[in-house]
This record gives sequence, C-alpha cells and structure tokens, in this order.
Amino acid sequence: MAIRELTSEQAEGSESSLTMPPSGLPSANPTSSYWLSEPSPILLGHRTTEELPVETDVVVVGSGITGVFATLFLLEKNRLGGTIKGESLEKVVLLEAREVCSGATGRNGGHCQPLVYGSAPAVAAFELEVFKFMESLVKEENIPCDWVSLTGVHAFYSENMFELAAASVDQLQQTHPELAAQMEVVRPSSSSNQGDTLASLRVPTAKGAIVQKKAASLWPYKLVTQIVERLLAKYPPPTFNLQTNTPVTQLTRHESGNRWVAITPRGSITARHVLLATNGYTSHLLPAFADLIVPVRGQVGALLPPRPKVDAGEGSPAKLNHSYVFAADPEIETGATAPRDDYLVQRPMPTGELIYGGGRRFARSLGVGEWRDDELEPQVAEYLRKSLAPVLDLTPSSANSDEKTPTRELNASFEWTGVMGYSRDQHAWVGPVPESMGGGEGLWICAGYTGHGMPAAALSAREVVRQILTTNGAEIEGDAKDGVKLPREFMVSEKRIIEARTLPPLAQGWEATNFATLITSTGLLDQRKAS
Ligand SMILES: Cc1cc2nc3c(=O)[nH]c(=O)nc-3n(C[C@H](O)[C@H](O)[C@H](O)COP(=O)(O)OP(=O)(O)OC[C@H]3O[C@@H](n4cnc5c(N)ncnc54)[C@H](O)[C@@H]3O)c2cc1C
Repeated sequence: MAIRELTSEQAEGSESSLTMPPSGLPSANPTSSYWLSEPSPILLGHRTTEELPVETDVVVVGSGITGVFATLFLLEKNRLGGTIKGESLEKVVLLEAREVCSGATGRNGGHCQPLVYGSAPAVAAFELEVFKFMESLVKEENIPCDWVSLTGVHAFYSENMFELAAASVDQLQQTHPELAAQMEVVRPSSSSNQGDTLASLRVPTAKGAIVQKKAASLWPYKLVTQIVERLLAKYPPPTFNLQTNTPVTQLTRHESGNRWVAITPRGSITARHVLLATNGYTSHLLPAFADLIVPVRGQVGALLPPRPKVDAGEGSPAKLNHSYVFAADPEIETGATAPRDDYLVQRPMPTGELIYGGGRRFARSLGVGEWRDDELEPQVAEYLRKSLAPVLDLTPSSANSDEKTPTRELNASFEWTGVMGYSRDQHAWVGPVPESMGGGEGLWICAGYTGHGMPAAALSAREVVRQILTTNGAEIEGDAKDGVKLPREFMVSEKRIIEARTLPPLAQGWEATNFATLITSTGLLDQRKAS
C-alpha cells in the first residue's frame, strides 16, 4: 500500500502552472507481474465483436478495478440500491489499451486495507464501507480470488512516527470511537496478557505498531476478471462489448455537441457518456489533469520465504497471520532521503510467497512522473530482496528454537513495476470533468487513488455511475444511498481544482510517502491541541 504525503518543503516554491508533462499510453511490453501469471483464457485478447461498434450509450476507458466495477453497476442497475426512473442507458463498451486488468490493479501489492488512522474520518469511514462491500461481494457471489480477511500490522521503525500514529488513534477515541475501535496500539512495553506484542506480531525490533482490524489479501486480477467473464456471459452485444488492445488516443466532442467520440487506432466510437477509469494514465487524454494526477511508478517482488531444514529436506515457511506495512522516517535509513513505506502480503500455503512492494525511495526521481511499467529498477529490486528479513521475523514455527531466520537476501520468483495515479491533494477525483479541464457534459472521471485504490475504487465507481445515470433528470428511487457517502474530498469541482493548485506540485521537492505528514494532514492532531 503506498500512502500519500505532502512535505513542508513543498510549500516553498509552489506554482499553480502545469509542471508535469501528460502521461503516455500504457507501455507495450510491461514487466511480468505475479498476478498476471495465470491469465484468463476467455479474456486474453478478447474482442466481443471483430469491429469496434460505431456508437454506444457509455464508453468506459480502462479495465482495472474502477472500470470493471463501473461496468458492473452500469449493466446491473439493481446493484445501485434503488430503481432508475426516467431515461436509462443500456449499452456499454469497455475499452482497454492492453489486456484486461493489466494496469495497477494487476500489478499492485495484493492488499485491500482501509487506512483508518491516517485518513480524514469521512475517508476512513468510506474505505471501511468499501472493504465491507467487497468482502461480502466476494463471499456472496463466490468469486475465487484468494480473498483472505486478516489484520493489518503497521510497524514503525521511528519513534516519532509511531507516537504520531498512536496520538492519532488516541484522538479518534475522543472524536470517532467507532473508527478507533478498528485499531489496537502495540507498544514495546505491551505484554502478552494484554493482547498482541511486537514479538507476537513478528516485528520485535519495531518502535511500535498499529494493528488495523480490517484488512485483506487477495488476487486482484482474479477478482476483476471473474466479474468481466460473468458480465460477458450474461450480456451479449450490443449490451456489453469488451475491446482489448484498443487504446483511446483522443477524445473529442461530437459535432452534435451532446456526445463524445473516443478515437482509437481501430476506429472511433460515439457515446452519450465517456468515463475515464484510466488512473495514472488519465492526463494522456486530459492533459489539463497533468498537474493533478501524476503517474508514479511502484515496484514489487514475489519473494520465496525461508524454509527450515528438516530431515526430509525443507519444511514449511512461516505462516503470517497479518498483512504488513513497514514505515520509518528518512533519517534512520541508510542513504535514503525519503521515508520508508513498504508493504507485504503472504500468498496461501504451501508456497507462502511474500509479495513485498515499496523501496520507492531508492527509485529514479522516486518514481514520480514515470508512466512506463516496462522496466525494473535493479537497485529497488535488490533492496526488496534484502530488506525484509531484518524487519520481519520469518522464523517458521516448526524451526528449532535456536534456529533463527537468516537475514540473507531472499530469491524472487517475479519482480515487476506498475503505475499509480498520485493526486495533488491526496484524494481520488470522482465526478464530471469540468469544461475548463477539457470536459463538459457527458465526460466523467474516477481516478487518482494515490497508491491506495483497493479500498476506494469499487464504490467510487458506483457513485460515478449514479451520477451518470441521473444526469438527464432521471432519478434513483429507493434507498440509493444506503448509508455510504462518497467523501466530499473525492468530489470533482472547480473550487477543489483551484484549491489543489495552491498546493505544491508533485514534481517539486516531493520526497515520497510519509506517514508522519499524512497523519498530520488529517487535522486530527490539531483538534487535540485545541481541546
Ligand atoms: C506497485 C503498486 C502497488 C500498489 N499497492 C497497493 C496496495 O497494496 N493497496 C492498495 O489499495 N492499492 C495499491 N496500489 C494502487 C491500486 O492498485 C490502484 O489504486 C488501483 O488498482 C487503481 O485501479 P484503476 O482501475 O483505477 O486503475 P488501473 O488498474 O491502473 O486501470 C487503468 C486501466 O486503464 C487502461 N488505460 C489507461 N489509459 C488508457 C487509454 N488511453 N485507452 C485505453 N485504456 C487505457 C490501463 O491499461 C489500465 O488497464 C498499488 C499500485 C501499484 C502500481
């Protein structure tokens, strides 16, 4: 999970002008992600019709978690929580530049974890709702995507950062006890009769940890592709049409004024509505967003866990009961000027591979502005292979008590990169694209999760679909809101764009992710001082 930050240095030399070039299109030959190693035979190279349709009701651009959940809600309106009265849009074309789910969703760390203590309370509450929604969807619809609900350990290796996190939990106890109830603070002094200890969490050298109760590991590609396969089987064309390997190179207004034309190398499609679910690549089609959603490259390795020696050869590796984030200030890191933000989930046994991402502070330009996922950075790969064993106790339970986990380099079965979409004000952009940004009626965006989209995208997509369907006076009757509100922070408006542009550009003085700044930016600790 990559977390977002704004540093104090950014405040200096802030400019509101564009400082980043627009993103390119997704690269032709991306690195091989672990999650893409079992591609869906149904979806590989899929084109529902040989030719592109010339017109449709809604074009969705991008087949990651956002585009696919948006397609699901467009096709299955009963999932919107109410009945649509008035005009209804029936036909959907999903366009994907490469293969289905080959962007960030097919290249991430495999986590779905709301960030409760480091988010504004409304965002934390929304993320918890998204988590609940996804957990039930997977269960009720029996989606085989290796979803494992567990707890998320955030281990801090800097005292200051841990104390900030603990203070944030403390403050939530006063203002939002329902959120605080989602977390446990574990200090070096915590003893086993009180619950978890740093040793029982396998992070004995941490300065402290926050344990979040809602977290999951999953195979994100399988979740997304299972949904697409089911939609293809249920909705033949023209209701649903999927076209892979079809990049949208340009969007223009149709001469009639109330439609959009998506231009691709294989022809053009005219539609009433176009939804950009293009995350880090959004500025390729909307250059005005180049300073608001910046592509940032992350790197991940699938590491082979150490196994104890047993008579018959090798025993089972340690089985981890949690997912992990490892965070630290820059000062204590050797040679790294940016903070630590690394993340880990374990694949099920018997293989138990450790999917470990991060190390971005060792990447060229910290990965900022990089939209190509067709190269690896060797120094990041080496860091990932070497840096896990020292912070996480990987000793298998079957090992002899004197047999310590080796702190040697681990071998990787896969190493890959992926492109995230970092938002200038840290929040996703969900809603209509204003005229001033190259949009106008019928053009929509749902993107910019800042490396943390898994507990946000599904219901952000539902919200944008509700907006699309009610744009021409149609109404959703019934309990459409079902208690879940898109946080105000995610809504697109001219005002928000102006305010975001008063923030420093992501290109300048931007170090990396920093939990300390993130916690501070929630404003929770200010409330504490004031009270
Ligand atoms: C290395 C890495 C680690 C991450 N770790 C985590 C994590 O642990 N937890 C978490 O919550 N989040 C994590 N994220 C972020 C998370 O994966 C994203 O927020 C989420 O997947 C975004 O989904 P999306 O559908 O919006 O975008 P994507 O999955 O990127 O989908 C966008 C799609 O649009 C397509 N596309 C783009 N432009 C065009 C075009 N012009 N024409 C046609 N198609 C186009 C792309 O090919 C792509 O398939 C990570 C991301 C990366 C890269």
